[in-house]
Amino acid sequence: MKLTFEEKVALLDGKDVWHTKVFEGVPSIMMADGPHGIRKQLESTDTLGISGSVKATAFPTASLTACSFDRDLIAKMGELLAIEAKANEVNMILGPGINMKRSPLCGRNFEYFSEDPYLAGELAASYVSSIEAEGIGTSVKHFFCNNQEKRRFTIDSIVDERALREIYLRAFERVIKENPASVMASYNKINGHYAVESPILKSILRSEWKYDGIVVSDWGAIGNRVDSILATCDLEMPSSMGYQTTKVIQASQYDEKLRNAVEDSAERMLKFISKYHQSFHQTYDVESHHQAARQIARESMVLLKNEGILPLNRDEKIAMIGGFAFDMRYQGGGSSHINPNRLDQITDIDKHYSDNIIFSKGYDIKNSIETEHHIKNAINVAKDVDKVVIFVGLPDAKETEGFDRKTLDIPTNHTHLIDEICKVNPNVIVVVISGSVVNLNFENKVKGILMAYLGGQGAAPAILDLLYGIENPSGRLAETFIDDIESCNVQLNDDNNATYYDESIYIGYRYYNTFNREVRYPFGYGLSYTNFEYSKFELQEANQEYVISMEIMNTGDIIGKEVVQVYIENNKSSVYKAKRELKQFDKVEIEPGGIAYVCIKLPKSAFEYYDINQRRFIIDSGAYKILVSKDVEHELHSFKVDLSGETINHPSLSYDLETYDTSDFKRIYEHKLPEKNIKIKRPFTLGSTLADMQSTFIGRIVATQIIKQGLKETEKMNEEWLKEVAKETLLETPIRMLSLFSAGKFSLLFAEGLIDIINLKFIKGIRKIRRNAKENK
Ligand code: BGC
Repeated sequence: MKLTFEEKVALLDGKDVWHTKVFEGVPSIMMADGPHGIRKQLESTDTLGISGSVKATAFPTASLTACSFDRDLIAKMGELLAIEAKANEVNMILGPGINMKRSPLCGRNFEYFSEDPYLAGELAASYVSSIEAEGIGTSVKHFFCNNQEKRRFTIDSIVDERALREIYLRAFERVIKENPASVMASYNKINGHYAVESPILKSILRSEWKYDGIVVSDWGAIGNRVDSILATCDLEMPSSMGYQTTKVIQASQYDEKLRNAVEDSAERMLKFISKYHQSFHQTYDVESHHQAARQIARESMVLLKNEGILPLNRDEKIAMIGGFAFDMRYQGGGSSHINPNRLDQITDIDKHYSDNIIFSKGYDIKNSIETEHHIKNAINVAKDVDKVVIFVGLPDAKETEGFDRKTLDIPTNHTHLIDEICKVNPNVIVVVISGSVVNLNFENKVKGILMAYLGGQGAAPAILDLLYGIENPSGRLAETFIDDIESCNVQLNDDNNATYYDESIYIGYRYYNTFNREVRYPFGYGLSYTNFEYSKFELQEANQEYVISMEIMNTGDIIGKEVVQVYIENNKSSVYKAKRELKQFDKVEIEPGGIAYVCIKLPKSAFEYYDINQRRFIIDSGAYKILVSKDVEHELHSFKVDLSGETINHPSLSYDLETYDTSDFKRIYEHKLPEKNIKIKRPFTLGSTLADMQSTFIGRIVATQIIKQGLKETEKMNEEWLKEVAKETLLETPIRMLSLFSAGKFSLLFAEGLIDIINLKFIKGIRKIRRNAKENK
């Protein structure tokens, strides 16, 4: 496969929305989303998912699987995903999504694992290694600091170096050790550079981490192709239809660096294609994959409250109330949306568990308006039963790629239902269906809460398995539950071009726990139907690691799984640190009356922090603790350890623990903070958004026309809320992306012409539009 230079440049641009280009001796690679199922679009020109996708198993989403704290379970899911990829002739799965949950409101949190980089990194490593072992590629996304959906294509995330190293790059660093086929560079900017052009691709990803797989752009993320090639972003997806290829070939005539960068990228692409191309002969058993999806869900769901009310007994008369019992919500909206092989509903499978279940809707899942007849019927049903299970949570429209939530509240018709039912029956269990944290301030009114998240196509039987005690709950929260977004130190309400990560390392429990903030349920929390008693804690110190051992006895009368969590408690230091950090975990199954001997290794490197003066991870000398804990707040045992590391000699940068104040960020960031709200003015570029262009008269006319056209496309979407999302998104989207996603209807050359006209370069603009018309004839 000897390609000419021009062919090599062309290879760096996709063939369509899902494939790489074909040359003699160079086959095509097919990609599909990810992360919790195979979304193979029926048409290879379709990005928006309008044409639909092939049927596949919808596994639980990452916010749920993370709660399993189970590397093997994630590996099992990876293996099955790889089998389905092969059965669909897909070479690379676009996942896992490992962005940190900086705010519980990020609309895509359901697709991400955790607020903790260690947990996310470990689980994602399992996902990646199990899929790659089957010869299928993975794409670890979205690299990096892509932590909100608001203005996701253009937002500039302003992050200090320590937070980058310890929080936002940490999970990626872990996964890179598994050598994933690709890393997906995100849409946003970080500290002034688009991710696809970021110097960090070279300095950290390639040089420090020695990554030699491909970097693929998130779909439509490339603005300046020359700069992104120089930054080592190898593959542009979806195809720019030759537009960028021409530009790169022209620019490389006078630029040796660029020619070399093209050669390097092409070499990585060819290596990638030869490694992942294969002939496929795979089939799979739909039923066994469905059962696996159910098992993964039930080993991940989290029992949050149980005042002696669960498990249910087959003979008890139970009312199951809530729209989700009839129409389960099991995944989030956007590019990860799977067309499920099969979908079980609570109402269809109840007989298998008991003959004593009656149902009532309670509310309408499609809107939040309270309907009197639903409530009346629910009260009637709830009055005369032993126990009531109420399903509440977030409807589809509230949680999707493309926009962030505004509140943690669930719809008022759900909370009103809980209030009314609690008045007529004291034995209420609530099952929460949502992809991320929601307000659980009804906790004190009810006796049981199961956090079921988005459980994939087997969610319904998984929930019933747990409610009826067929399986013992063993999930633990992979994120902190608070009731009100005001309790969180990160707010996503800025509508600006830049957002300051002024909390530095303090996201999730690193904030709540360090600053003693009250939460509804802490990170790592979760109950079981049995009890585990820990004893015989021991600590041994070897050269570069500690070995912590203990015995855990299952003192109840049913089999169960316990998650052993090991945190470190940091020293008193002049450097600001989180009080506690998760550094190891394990999950063990123990028979009733049985004892598990658990041995956990903790490398001394777990105590390192990133020193911004020395630009490396170091341990500062001091007294630390190793904690074996139930969750981040509740320790079972602690060991004091004295570490002799290095002495820190730079002036203290600190967040005052008493008067936590993010204005300290000015010092911590160490560079001039950019203005947050810069109005984009002429000259506009392909990267400008319709909202930017609306500041000029011609821009407004063009924007109105494009929006009109764009909304016509959304008519094909079958859900009203999807149309709403599309409307909101259109204004925030750079013109070049509107073009890439228009399936060839609105070429980049035509878009360039329009922008020239808005920039008052009429002749140039009209020429381009004419040239485009000619080329299209
Ligand atoms: C999403 C990615 C996804 C890609 C392809 C993008 O909009 O951000 O996560 O893999 O589309 O569907």
